[in-house]
Amino acid sequence: MSESDKRIAIIGAGVGGLSLALALRERGMEAQIYEKTHELREVGAAVYLAANASRFIERFGLGDAFAAVSWEPTALIYRDGRDGHVIARHDETESSAYGAPGYGIHRADLQEILANAVGHDQIHLGKEIASYAQEGGEVTIDFADGTQAVADIVVGADGARSLVRELMVGHDDKIYTGRSGFRGLVDVKDLPSLPDPTAIQFWIGPDGHLLHYPIGGNGDVINFLLVKRMPWEGDEWTVDAGPDEHLRLFEGWHPAVIEMISAPTFDRRWALNRRPPLSQWYDGRVVLLGDAAHALVPHHGQGANITVEDAVVLARCLSETDDIDAAIASFQDQRLERTARVQKASYITADVLHLSDGDEATQRNAQLASSEWMHGQLDWIHSYNADPNFDKVDIA
Ligand SMILES: Cc1cc2nc3c(=O)[nH]c(=O)nc-3n(C[C@H](O)[C@H](O)[C@H](O)COP(=O)(O)OP(=O)(O)OC[C@H]3O[C@@H](n4cnc5c(N)ncnc54)[C@H](O)[C@@H]3O)c2cc1C
Repeated sequence: MSESDKRIAIIGAGVGGLSLALALRERGMEAQIYEKTHELREVGAAVYLAANASRFIERFGLGDAFAAVSWEPTALIYRDGRDGHVIARHDETESSAYGAPGYGIHRADLQEILANAVGHDQIHLGKEIASYAQEGGEVTIDFADGTQAVADIVVGADGARSLVRELMVGHDDKIYTGRSGFRGLVDVKDLPSLPDPTAIQFWIGPDGHLLHYPIGGNGDVINFLLVKRMPWEGDEWTVDAGPDEHLRLFEGWHPAVIEMISAPTFDRRWALNRRPPLSQWYDGRVVLLGDAAHALVPHHGQGANITVEDAVVLARCLSETDDIDAAIASFQDQRLERTARVQKASYITADVLHLSDGDEATQRNAQLASSEWMHGQLDWIHSYNADPNFDKVDIA
């Protein structure tokens, strides 16, 4: 079986599924994507793509399209969430620090650009995977609408609530991290009190923080995530949020924080769940990628980034051998350690941001202000190149 003969089915047209289809095409392979929604319409919020992913967006030839609808933050700033004083300020951009742009981008724009590049004839909407079965090196996928598809390899890129993972692991293994989130978008013009609106800012305090950054071609919309340590009841990923629940939780915080979080109407509170690292990401010819393999919490802003990394590595592994089982095993070997390390860093970050006032918080503030310390925390993530030898690959 040559590379281009492999029948590759991707479950999920999110960041991972679409990036994988593009990375495969670079290597002379095409895939079919099966997406459960009937319309590609990511709603609700934005993501920040850092250099460890944006270098591949540029490589896919999509740098200009992303630049037109995104904003690169001008600095990284930490403030005390209550009195607003600057704890730390780093006037570097993703480009200046790591050589590839940072993209603050609405999810709908991101998905649209990637999907248009893949081509809509390869994206099959309304196809929700219900189960799969394997025989003789072939995988048969059963969809909820009663149809089937057959492939030589199936990639479960179906996100944090992955059914493919659940089928593989045997149960839903999500873990509530003890923190909930509220997500919102606000026009900068509605935030007259906000200092440094062009930066990524963390407003931190005991048991909670506000993270925000600009998105859109003019940076005139602020995307924010408000995080609070609090219990969670039930099995749902989101619950109804009372109209003023978030305001009560952040009572007494700085006026710029209150202004931002008062602007939109919230109807949902999100559980910030993660998945425990797995020792195996595959079952025969079915392999997990992205959040399905390693869902984390958004405190390092890295879920989509390491998902794009996964995509380019899996495409490379599949291009290097005709032995699909060996390619899948090699992909897992190359990704397990790094993704587990980023996962761990993501949930430790919340503990660090949410320290109570006292000696530990004072020490943390000094570390955040240290350029050397910050580079030690971030460089191994952002400067990572998941596919450094691509130029040497012959895709003719
Ligand atoms: C509040 C918040 C903020 C975040 N901010 C950032 C950030 O700034 N930077 C960053 O890098 N990451 C961020 N992330 C994480 C990032 O969104 C994810 O890590 C990333 O989207 C994972 O990509 P994925 O392809 O694995 O899953 P997704 O992008 O979620 O895509 C999964 C796709 O699979 C489809 N699907 C689901 N089930 C099925 C099924 N049964 N059959 C068929 N299709 C199915 C879904 O409809 C969806 O289209 C954030 C996450 C949250 C919750």
